Amino acid sequence: MKEEATSRNGKRKRQRNPKTPKEEPNETPKNQNNDKKRQRDTKTHKSNQHGGSSALSKRPKPSNFLDTLREKLSGGNFRRLNEKLYTCSGKEALDYFNEDPTLFDMYHTGYQQQMTNWPELPVNSIISWLSSRSSSLVVADFGCGDARIAKSVKNKVFSFDLVSKDPSVIACDMSNTPLESSSVDVAVFCLSLMGTNYSSYIKEAHRVLRPSGWLLIAEVKSRFDPNNGGADPKDFVKAVSDLGFSSSLKDFSNKMFILLHFKKKEQLNSNKKKIEWPELKACLYKRR
Ligand code: SAH
Repeated sequence: MKEEATSRNGKRKRQRNPKTPKEEPNETPKNQNNDKKRQRDTKTHKSNQHGGSSALSKRPKPSNFLDTLREKLSGGNFRRLNEKLYTCSGKEALDYFNEDPTLFDMYHTGYQQQMTNWPELPVNSIISWLSSRSSSLVVADFGCGDARIAKSVKNKVFSFDLVSKDPSVIACDMSNTPLESSSVDVAVFCLSLMGTNYSSYIKEAHRVLRPSGWLLIAEVKSRFDPNNGGADPKDFVKAVSDLGFSSSLKDFSNKMFILLHFKKKEQLNSNKKKIEWPELKACLYKRR
């Protein structure tokens, strides 16, 4: 079943912009000899750029060199923070960012750069879905980032993230939101099922959703690729269903992300069997 059209992205080429960190950022190892790099830069400069006789004119501009270094450092910081978020619990992540909220800015700068490599943003699919429905639906955006959903739709949106960079964003660990039970119509997780305790986020969504409310999940496709250590989407859908949802959409057409939609069942689940939540592979970025 498919509710909305998603574009075919497989053929679109990734832009080769050397200033933008790639899916696998091309990092300089920390202790790489900068002199070697400078020599290489100078050589490149010699052969490609000026060809003049002045030694000075053959050197790379210091600002270019410093810019490149800064980009490499910020790419490394993003990679480290990203790994932290995927490998710790929501509570640990909250404490971590509370200790130094500037790390959150660092993470999101890297995240935004990363997203420039994606031909289509999953958050836009969610915005389109919401825009095609009644704006009276109350939405909870779990792991909202820059709260793009709240800024783009007319609905009342409760936006949650570990740090609040905007007065509209409520800072909390999303396994424990301040929402009343059965108070929202749509719960959204857009690339935010990051913690090792991700099932507690979905349980919280189940608590705050009204019966027949929607659960919309967009996640990185590679996390659901069983051939590459990812979870089997069937196991994930089964676990969410066992919690008390019915699956209404499984869309794997996008190259980068999958979309899964569920509806909260009217009746409480009488089956008390332990739910088997599959481990979701962390989405890590390699250092080259
Ligand atoms: N949904 C946004 C941002 C995705 S990045 C978008 O699609 O653009 C994932 C976000 O989830 C990050 O901002 C991260 O801080 C947040 N997040 C991860 N674990 C969280 C938790 N336990 N509680 C609240 N937010 C969390």
